[in-house]
Formats: sequence, C-alpha cells, structure tokens
Amino acid sequence: MYDVIIIGAGVSGVTFASKISKYAKTMLIEAQDYQKEIPIRTNIFPEHNKPFVKEELDWNNKKIFPNPHTTSNYMSDEFNGVIDSKEFGIPLGNVSYTENLIQYLITQLESHGGTFKSNERISKINRYNDHLELINTKGESYTSKLLILATGSRGFELQRSLGFGVPDSYIGVYLHLFGDETKINENLRWNYTFHINPKISKNGPFFFNKGVERISAGYLGEKNQSKEEIISKLERILKNYKPIQSFVDGLTYNISDAIVGEISKHPIKKYSNDRVLILGEAAGIVSAFFYEGLLPGVACADIAAKTLKPLFEKGSNFSRVELQEYDKEVNRVLMTYFKNGNAFEYLIYNESSSVKSLWNLYTKLLSENKTCRKYIYDAYINHDLSKHIVSNDRYVGEKLFGMLPTLSKLTLSPKFFKAMLLL
Ligand SMILES: Cc1cc2nc3c(=O)[nH]c(=O)nc-3n(C[C@H](O)[C@H](O)[C@H](O)COP(=O)(O)OP(=O)(O)OC[C@H]3O[C@@H](n4cnc5c(N)ncnc54)[C@H](O)[C@@H]3O)c2cc1C
Repeated sequence: MYDVIIIGAGVSGVTFASKISKYAKTMLIEAQDYQKEIPIRTNIFPEHNKPFVKEELDWNNKKIFPNPHTTSNYMSDEFNGVIDSKEFGIPLGNVSYTENLIQYLITQLESHGGTFKSNERISKINRYNDHLELINTKGESYTSKLLILATGSRGFELQRSLGFGVPDSYIGVYLHLFGDETKINENLRWNYTFHINPKISKNGPFFFNKGVERISAGYLGEKNQSKEEIISKLERILKNYKPIQSFVDGLTYNISDAIVGEISKHPIKKYSNDRVLILGEAAGIVSAFFYEGLLPGVACADIAAKTLKPLFEKGSNFSRVELQEYDKEVNRVLMTYFKNGNAFEYLIYNESSSVKSLWNLYTKLLSENKTCRKYIYDAYINHDLSKHIVSNDRYVGEKLFGMLPTLSKLTLSPKFFKAMLLL
C-alpha cells in the first residue's frame, strides 16, 4: 500500500511528487511514454512562481531555465506594448524548458525513494473506507491511502467518477521553430509575445515563447475546432500572417511536429474529497485571460504538500473536512490575482466587433503609460499573489476606458462596468 499515488506527471504532479516523497511512500503514474521522450515545451515561468518551488529548483540551472525572461510584448497590429524588466528591476522570471524541469523533479522523487511509472494509464478507481484502488488499462492494480489527480485536461472521466466537476476546456496548438541563437535574437526581440487577433481566435492569444535555440509558437483556439483545422491554420499563419513574418523568417520547423491538446480554465467548485485532492489544470485553475497554468500547478503542489504533511504525521484518515484546508488555501493564494484574468477575458474573448480596437488601444496604453507597465511588472514579480493589488488592475481598466473614442465609450460602458465588477 502506498501512502500517496499521483496520477499525471505534468508540472503539477511532478512538483507535488518531489515534495511529498520526502515523508510519504509515493508513486507517480504517467500515461505518456516518458522513457521514449518527454515532449518539449518552451514556457514562460514568471518570477511569481518561484516561492512555490524554491526548495526544489535552482533558478540558475540553465538546463531547466536557459534564459531569463526580461521582456514581454503585448502586441497588436499597430503597437508593441513592451514590459521590459530593465525599466524597473529584476527579470520578469525565466523561460523554462519544461521537459527538463519535469525530468529533474522525477529524478528528485526517485532519489527520495519514490516510484515513477511511465506509459501506464489509470482507467478505473475504486473507493474504500480506508484506501483507494487504482486499476490501469492492463488490469494491474495499486492501492493507496491518498490519491492526487494531476491529470490536466486528460482525465475528466476519472475525476467525474470520483464526484468532481470538470472545467471548461479549449483546444490549443504549439510548434517549435529552430535556429541558431543569433538568428533567433535578430528575429524576435522579446521572450514572450502575446498577440490577439479575433481572426486567429476569439478565445485566446497567438504567442511566441523564446528560448535559446528554439521558439515555441502557437495559439489557443475555438472550442470545437478539429485537430486538422487548428494545425492547418497554424501553418497558414506561420506562412502568411504579415505581422509575424519577420519573426519566423529563416527558422526551421516541421508542421507535422505540432502538438494539439486541450487546455482548461474556470476553476471547478471543490478541489478535495475524502482521500482525494485535485491539482492544477485538472481543477481548471488556469488564469482565464493569459492561460497561465504553471503558476497554479506549482502553487497547488506546494499547498497540497503543506496541507498533507501534518496529516501524515498524525496518522490522519484524510477526511474531506481535513482536506478542505487545501481548497481554502488555493483560493486564498491564487484567486485575487485571477480576478484580472476574469475581467480581461470578459472584455476581450468574445464575438464583438470592438475586440480588435480594444486590443489595439490596450497595447497603445502599455506603450505610452509607465504606471500601467509598472503595475504589470509588479504582478510578474510578486512573491505573495494573495496580496495582488486589484486597484492597480482597476487603474489600467480606467485608463483603457479613457482612451476610447466618445461613441465607443457610450456603447462599451456597460461592458467596462461589468468587467470592473469582476475585479
Ligand atoms: C500551447 C500552450 C502553451 C502554454 N504556455 C504556458 C506558459 O508559457 N506558461 C504557463 O504558465 N502556462 C502555459 N500553458 C498552460 C500550462 O502549460 C498548463 O496549464 C500546465 O502545464 C498544466 O500542468 P498540469 O500538470 O496541471 O497538467 P498536464 O501538464 O496536462 O499534465 C497532466 C498529465 O497527466 C497525464 N494523465 C492524464 N490522465 C491520466 C491517466 N488516466 N493515467 C495516467 N496519466 C494521466 C497526462 O498524460 C499528462 O502528462 C500553456 C498551455 C498551452 C496549451
């Protein structure tokens, strides 16, 4: 019998596994074949993630964090709204080679005596009073006192079977483009480029995340887009979309390497039940506008480990009441910061004809207004997001509203009013 079994070796699962395995008999199970390859991912890993992994990860490990994240460009067709950390202080965070981060934390788990099983999918879970039984697709079973679901957007059946809700889920696509470091830096000045064009998607951004010899490009698409559609649209964008041609010029890529996957948002109501916790994206804890999912992954992992440590020590039976502390803490730590994503999502991700002009104005605002840039910078580097200053987001909202032409002010004021109420 294991003390704890974690299903899913994404960032949430591996972070939690590396933490809990120090004091509990732990097994981590992953459906993908990591022996063959952990799929490469070049991600943005803001400074505000750091407190949740400060004991596990060395911020200067270049294999995991090849370069600092110093510049973000909130880009429209007309303006570059650039947040450059040099204007204010320390970097905004790091760029992460997330496949190396995952591998490193699995090695940590194993060095603590934990077990990692790859290429194994759990298909059924039976609940008993004093333990759970997990059965994989080969019919083998494991027992555990406690179960952690860190299944991202790929385990909805399992979480439903345990009485949890499932979040809203969208499709996304990304692809890596390669080139030498100099060429990549010539092409793209910013570590992170976040671009909205409703013709690309009404639900999310088109983005570039810049590593050292590779760039990840992709976008978050519509709910019912097929895999073929989203990939062929990405190819058309990379080949023909004028605003980004200079970024991709001369870089190599193979469109058949594009990865398509679901991404969820809008948190479900509860993240715990008797003997079960649910972490990160599986619980829909991804910020609604920026689709920031690594922060919730590492935060949930840290909060779960801190909640469980004393329970292990006192020989708890992990009742729902005891585990509810985890829900409360996750909400306390993350949901104030998440409000700005909710407000922005409401303003921007919709069918209305004003989306493009609003996004143009927002990027103009950032390019012109230092206070707005500073407020965004502060959110990137804030080590205690429970104290995120919501009035800063209101200030940015008010400035944006102030820039609207008079007629748009009249038509959009109800929308702005409602967005402000979300803050
Ligand atoms: C294109 C794109 C770009 C992104 N870029 C960023 C970024 O730059 N910064 C950022 O903060 N966020 C980013 N995100 C969001 C972020 O990557 C995710 O929210 C985060 O990685 C989710 O981590 P997770 O561990 O919760 O879930 P996942 O990474 O999805 O891991 C879940 C794992 O569980 C496994 N699994 C599921 N079911 C089973 C089962 N039954 N048995 C065994 N294993 C199972 C899956 O195989 C999977 O490996 C991006 C998302 C997308 C789609």
